[in-house]
Amino acid sequence: MNVLKERILRDGKCLENGILKVDSFINHQMDPVLMKSIAVEFVRRFASTDINKIITIEASGIAPAIMTGYLLELPVVFAKKKKPVTMEGMLTTTVFSFTKQRNYDVCVSSEFLCRGDRVLFIDDFLANGNAAKGIMDLVNQAGAELAGMGFVIEKAFQYGGEYLRKAGMRVESLAVIESLDDCKIKLKD
Ligand code: 5GP
Repeated sequence: MNVLKERILRDGKCLENGILKVDSFINHQMDPVLMKSIAVEFVRRFASTDINKIITIEASGIAPAIMTGYLLELPVVFAKKKKPVTMEGMLTTTVFSFTKQRNYDVCVSSEFLCRGDRVLFIDDFLANGNAAKGIMDLVNQAGAELAGMGFVIEKAFQYGGEYLRKAGMRVESLAVIESLDDCKIKLKD
């Protein structure tokens, strides 16, 4: 997706430890026009996939997920990082955060993720795949099915993509970073 790749090269910044900062257009300030193009591309790629719901994890996955849900006219559920006292039938799992280097719990209500659902997981980044594994766990607990996963940016030098594809998961990434070595962003063609 050229418009996204150009934006990453223009405005993305490399941090230490293999982290790409995209907070001027995705993670803090958001560009809704770019976000719409991202959603259009997800819709194109998953056009033939039978889904009835989109799932993501708060907070950064919500923007691309809601745009995609808007275009597909499907509900969007986000896994929450804080357990609301009012939540009924809570499903929980533990996710290791790559950026914060610690575990956190995420939860979703079985009212909104349940048997018979065919869900598409959308997130901003794919690194080691821990968020994706957490979603797989929640979907399994719910007795639902995961029909695919879409990431705005995949970092191919980490192992999430390889793991998920080997596990038979349909994974679509709109921009793939080959390396951030020497603080240079190298994109896959
Ligand atoms: P994973 O669970 O695949 O290891 O990491 C994905 C999650 O960590 C994403 O939801 C994203 O929030 C965060 N993340 C991983 N790598 C990066 C990165 O390079 N930059 C930013 N901004 N977030 C990242």
